Amino acid sequence: MRGDGLFIGGRWVAPSSDAVIEVISPVTEAPVARVAAAGPSDVDAAVEAARNAFDDGPWPRLDPSERTAAVRRLAELYGERRLEMADLITAEIGAPTSFAQRAQVGLPWMMMTAFADLAADFAWQETRRGRYGADIRIRREPVGVVAAIVPWNMPQFLIVTKLMPALLAGCCVVVKPAPESPLDALLLAELLDELDLPPGVVNVVPGGADVGAYLVGHTGVDKVSFTGSTAAGRRVAAACATGLKRVSLELGGKSAAIVLDDADPAAVAVGIRSASLSNSGQICNALTRILVPAKRSDEFVDALAAEIKTLVVGDPSDPATQLGPLVSRRQQQRVLDYIEMGQREGARLVTGGTGMPDGAERGWYVRPTLFADADNSMRIAREEIFGPVLTVIGYDDEDEAVRIANDSDYGLAGSVFSDDTERGVALATRMRTGTFGVNQGYTMDPYAPFGGVKSSGYGRELGREGIEAYLDTKSISVAG
Ligand code: NAD
Repeated sequence: MRGDGLFIGGRWVAPSSDAVIEVISPVTEAPVARVAAAGPSDVDAAVEAARNAFDDGPWPRLDPSERTAAVRRLAELYGERRLEMADLITAEIGAPTSFAQRAQVGLPWMMMTAFADLAADFAWQETRRGRYGADIRIRREPVGVVAAIVPWNMPQFLIVTKLMPALLAGCCVVVKPAPESPLDALLLAELLDELDLPPGVVNVVPGGADVGAYLVGHTGVDKVSFTGSTAAGRRVAAACATGLKRVSLELGGKSAAIVLDDADPAAVAVGIRSASLSNSGQICNALTRILVPAKRSDEFVDALAAEIKTLVVGDPSDPATQLGPLVSRRQQQRVLDYIEMGQREGARLVTGGTGMPDGAERGWYVRPTLFADADNSMRIAREEIFGPVLTVIGYDDEDEAVRIANDSDYGLAGSVFSDDTERGVALATRMRTGTFGVNQGYTMDPYAPFGGVKSSGYGRELGREGIEAYLDTKSISVAG
């Protein structure tokens, strides 16, 4: 059991029921922890605490510089506990320790300082001269109580990219982590407890989809910031429409890597391996459709296969491991089903497949898998697999590559690989995605807004836009 309960109103409170969430190790398939599960009355208490903190507490009324200082102090506390945080994420989702330290924890830690720097430069208010001579004072005010709902794949990164800008904006927040990954969220709550924010500014209520849905529908919530699957995102959007709540949706993806004919196969293979197979492919902006010039397909497929075969698959707590298990048996089965489906659909299995990796007898592993000679109409090319499975599709000319890449329900990310950077940038402007990389997998940069179009959702996180997502604009018109 970790912690004494739920973090509500600035203290640890006993949950309203004895329901627990059991966290299961993806390596041993045995329980590693039990935590209290929130129910509806706990959500009520958390929203009420956030509501009180927002409506009557000091937090939204502080000078932005005071909130920025609090986030900088949190970054210090976070740095001191970061290895413990990485170990928890390895235990709950099976992320290899090297990736957990570098990306799962290193990235959010860096993001805290980056968001504080952005807030320090942010134009919280400005004055304009009105058309009729009035002074128009424009204030950027916090949207209110925010429900932050995240999945398990990059749990700290996804909480931090919501929580930091919301806090800097002056909002009060109820965080609902995924049931697969409550441990890191509870450690973050411990750090927030140490930080001594006014009670109710941040509340943490672990629970499942039912708890998330109840929170989204709560009349005390002003804005929902949701990251997760497209199917759940649709339900969240519908509930927010009913309550006229603001909502940001960061949903699924099926991003394309467009490899141009002047690209170097070995460099492309390294770039795609790191962008798409880290975290066992459980990354929303992974490049999972690899579009290669049909005439040189074999060269690129061989380079990719050679690169994939170098991956060290195994126990995530071993520092040498590059690919750990998937998060759950359900995800493992889902990904294995897609691998069988790809073979039935007629794609060529180049490496990987449905067997367990060498040496593994248990654990929710899937071998890194490469399909070639695929077609963009196949389900393995259209649906988000969320595992270590890449699909290579040939194209005849650049126009066809752009057409295939854009022929997707999703529009989250993508990348182009070319020896000619400007050719790559020109191609990027033709893509219907929210983000795009040139000669790299799309890399999360704290100063670059991130988000999707089409079924990948709407709204932007990170960058100045990531703070704006938690602000409303008020005009005060003063007679001249
Ligand atoms: P999921 O949608 O099942 O769950 C995500 C979170 O939402 C969990 O906390 C869950 O409990 C909660 N939830 C589920 N249904 C809900 C509802 N109706 N109302 C409120 N909350 C609800 O997602 P998952 O399968 O666990 O996570 C993987 C998905 O997340 C993938 O599709 C992936 O692409 C997506 N994702 C997107 C981004 C991005 O930035 N675009 C980042 C990471 C993951």
